[in-house]
Parts: sequence; C-alpha cells; structure tokens
Amino acid sequence: MKTPELSVVIPVYNEEAGLNALFARLYTALDALALPYEVIFVNDGSQDQSATLLANQFRIRPENTRVILLNGNYGQHMAILAGFEAARGEIIVTLDADLQNPPEEIGKLVQKMHEGHDYVGTIRRQRQDSLWRRKASRAMNQLRERITHIRMTDQGCMMRAYSRHIIDTINRCGELNTFIPALAYTFAQRPVEIEVAHEERFAGTSKYSFYSLMRLNFDLVTGFSVAPLQWLSFIGLLLSLGSAGLFILLIVRRFIVGAEVQGVFTLFAITFFLFGVIILALGLLGEYVGRIYQQVRARPRYLIQTVLETSANPPSTSRPS
Ligand code: UDP
Ligand code: MG
Repeated sequence: MKTPELSVVIPVYNEEAGLNALFARLYTALDALALPYEVIFVNDGSQDQSATLLANQFRIRPENTRVILLNGNYGQHMAILAGFEAARGEIIVTLDADLQNPPEEIGKLVQKMHEGHDYVGTIRRQRQDSLWRRKASRAMNQLRERITHIRMTDQGCMMRAYSRHIIDTINRCGELNTFIPALAYTFAQRPVEIEVAHEERFAGTSKYSFYSLMRLNFDLVTGFSVAPLQWLSFIGLLLSLGSAGLFILLIVRRFIVGAEVQGVFTLFAITFFLFGVIILALGLLGEYVGRIYQQVRARPRYLIQTVLETSANPPSTSRPS
C-alpha cells in the first residue's frame, strides 16, 4: 500500500444506524478523487454494534481502512486526537460519522489544500440543527471572536482539512481538554474558509447533551483565553470601588440624618447578589484549576484497545499518549 496522501479521521460513538450509509457514500466519494487515501475510524467506546460494523468495513476495504478501538468514551475531540496520532497522510480531513457534512465535499477541501493553504475551515450553508443550538452557537462564536485571536466564521463545523505540519504540531501538544478547530487554527499560517453543505443527521440522535455542550464550550473558552479571569478582577475592582463609595455615603449620612435601620431586605438582595458573583468567580477559577490539575497529572489521554490495519502498513504510532 502506498503512503496515503489523504487521511480522513472519523470519530464514531454509537452510530450503528448510519454507518453503512456513511461507508457507501464516503468510499465512493474518496475513490472518485483518484489519490491514495486512508480512512481512520476511531471508535470512541460505542456500546452498540458500531465496532462490529467498522470491523466489517475493514474486512471489505483493508487497504484503505484503519480502525482504532478506544477502550472507553473519551469524547469526540479526544477520539480525533487518537486518529491524528495514527494518520499518515499529507492532508488530514476530519469528518463526523453522522453524514451531516456530505463526504462528497471532501474534494473541495483537498483542492483548496492543493492551492497552498494549510488549514481549510468550513462554514455550514443552511445549518440543519435545532433553533436553540443555532442561537447558542452564534453566541459562542461571537464570544470567541472577542476573547481569543482565533478568527473563524463557524467554529462548530468539524469537517475541516489540516496540513501534515499542523497535525504534527498538534501531536506534540498533549492537550487534554481541547477544541480541535481552534487548536489547529493557532498553528495555521495560510488558513482559508469555504462553504460546505449541511444536512440533517442521517440516523440516530446527537451525541451531545446540553451538559456535554456546556463542557465543550468551557474547554473552548478556558483553553484559548484567560480573558474571563481578567473580567473577574475587573468586576472585583468595580464592586470594591462601589462599596467604598457606599461606605463613605453612609458615614456622612449617619452624621447628618442619623443611623440607618431600615432596608434590611435591600441589604439581603445585595448580599445574595454578591454571593452569586463570588460563587461564579470560584466556579470559573475552578474550571481553570481543574484543567491545570488534569494536565499536570499527565496520565495517558486515552487507551487503545485494538488497532485494525493490514500488516502491510508500517507500525502505527498507536501507543497511549
Ligand atoms: N462523538 C464521539 N464521541 C462522543 C460524542 C460524539 O466520537 O462522545 C462523535 C459522533 O459519533 C459523531 C461526531 O462525534 O461522529 C459528532 O457528534 P454529533 O453528530 O452527535 O454532534 P452534533 O452534530 O450534534 O454536534
Ligand atoms: Mg452531528
């Protein structure tokens, strides 16, 4: 088998309902490109039949397929990182397994890479997701634009192409809680964005609960900006100045009008508000500290159970990292 020029990395978590449709469309689209390619499926600890389906597909197309089976559920971004460590192509494309991004668009990404770009971002034309996700995603995009140096129109679209250089750099990072499109962007020298089609999920349901989306967005914010910590200092400064002013006002008032006894409930309201601010600040600090803690423990990021690949392949870099 020739060294592939294109590696397509696909994280798979409980996608049994849609995998066969994905195989059919993906391999047809890639064959049409007429360049040596490999598809790396990373099974992120699926509890359904996904692993079996992937193994079947490996038997059908062993020369173009590699399957990495992780021993647990480590999340989409960690699964992709596992795929990156194994990828050997010069161009690496990430794709979701749910056919929301049509595999037929991979050709466009490859063409842009051949034009000399090292990062091809994507914008979903007519995004097919629920209204609240579109709104929340818009808000997070705006927040990211303001607090980081990462410039992209649609951070959520995972169908992207990266150069070998960017992937090598990502592999050196050892990041734990990360957001791959943003991480890759920080290493890109000639990024470009193109529009791609977006479809409804072919089968199954979204693997992201509200909670896991929150966590992912915390990863994005804490991983690429310390602006929230600076906001905390700023809020603290404003509150201290405000209370100093109030203190002076009350002292003066005491000498002119006399002691103040009413307004107990106003005091409660203000106190509870400040409690809220303090707990929020602690929580936010905790988000950073917890991530520092996980990072310094330096445990293996994921464990690989098995790798399915043909023996013709050179030994893969599938050690735990
Ligand atoms: N995924 C994964 N591990 C997870 C959650 C998701 O590997 O813990 C994969 C999933 O199989 C899919 C991709 O990540 O290929 C995107 O997930 P999904 O389509 O559910 O996300 P959404 O489109 O709702 O953002
Ligand atoms: Mg999806």
